[in-house]
Amino acid sequence: MVATAPIARPGILDIAAYVPGESKVPGGLSPAKLSSNETPLGPSPKAIDAFKAAAAELERYPDGQATLLREAIARRYGLDAARIVCGSGSDELLGLLARGYLGPGDEAIYTAHGFLVYRIAILTNGATPVVVPERDLKTDVDAILAAVTPKTRMVFIANPNNPTGTYIPIEEVRRLRAGLRSDVLLVLDAAYSEYVSRNDYEAGIELVATTPNTVMTRTFSKIYGLAALRIGWAYCPPEIADVLNRIRGPFNLSSPAIAAGAAAIADIEHMERAKRHNDQWLPWVESELKKLGLAVTPSVANFVLMHFPEGRDKTASGADEYLKSQGIIVRKVGAYGFPNALRMTIGSESENKRAIDALARYLKGAA
Ligand SMILES: *Cc1c(COP(=O)(O)O)cnc(C)c1O
Repeated sequence: MVATAPIARPGILDIAAYVPGESKVPGGLSPAKLSSNETPLGPSPKAIDAFKAAAAELERYPDGQATLLREAIARRYGLDAARIVCGSGSDELLGLLARGYLGPGDEAIYTAHGFLVYRIAILTNGATPVVVPERDLKTDVDAILAAVTPKTRMVFIANPNNPTGTYIPIEEVRRLRAGLRSDVLLVLDAAYSEYVSRNDYEAGIELVATTPNTVMTRTFSKIYGLAALRIGWAYCPPEIADVLNRIRGPFNLSSPAIAAGAAAIADIEHMERAKRHNDQWLPWVESELKKLGLAVTPSVANFVLMHFPEGRDKTASGADEYLKSQGIIVRKVGAYGFPNALRMTIGSESENKRAIDALARYLKGAA
């Protein structure tokens, strides 16, 4: 008998595995890691203390309901804890939403430069990704509505979006919701919402509270500085929370994550410090990049997308190589449809200055 290997379900081998931001540089250089939108301030010291205290009971299973964390989130934002579902990062929740609501024959929409985890979640469940154009590198509500077919089951938007850093006003999100059939699930990925200060922006809490078909996802990986612990949460209509709770792993968050997350979200002062740091350095980085002659997509998040001039010898990949040789790691975004752009996270003061100085050397031809 000829041995045959197991065959993955249709669609699985169409998935391009997610490539995380790099973290290593050559030689003994201490890297400035500006590739994954982490915070240069680190987590709240209270979160670190709570994490360490959790080490005393590692033989115990965690609370499968993550009650401490859900209640801390509910208190912070005035929400109903029963409608919060926590996940091992918001990536897990995006995957669970797709698993709960998508199957073969279904379509799910995301935008041209949208977060690639959506595509993976859609294909994993045998559904068909439908990618719609953006306008000025922003989510285009009309383009999404025009792409809806009877097979559409889900729409994912990141607001603000990664890697563009752009956002759409809550009025536009409401218009999208109103234009979608009521059986189409709208997922609002608000991973960077804490960084946004715009009068016309909202993460979507009210929309979730007032519609039966909208979910908002959030993360502790960005402004809260806990990416290593993998903590995300979703605010859901009760029926959708019920679906997620049926299909998630029964202990999908570890006890140290639950404890650290609860402490982090209560430390408002620390979060505000991270926000102020970003408010100070994001405009500085943007203006320095422009002085170097690069086009910069206006960002409301903690990173910037810089575009290299077309048809010149100074390219995004050349800059990426040079930066790496200088111990600075940024993010190539070719997989997001930007072959000649780089995404840079706002780092510490010295990291930002190192990155700008190195880019200046590269662009002036020293490299
Ligand atoms: C970083 C990021 C997330 C968060 O992922 P986690 O799994 O919570 O670490 C979600 N969505 C977008 C758009 C992101 O950039």
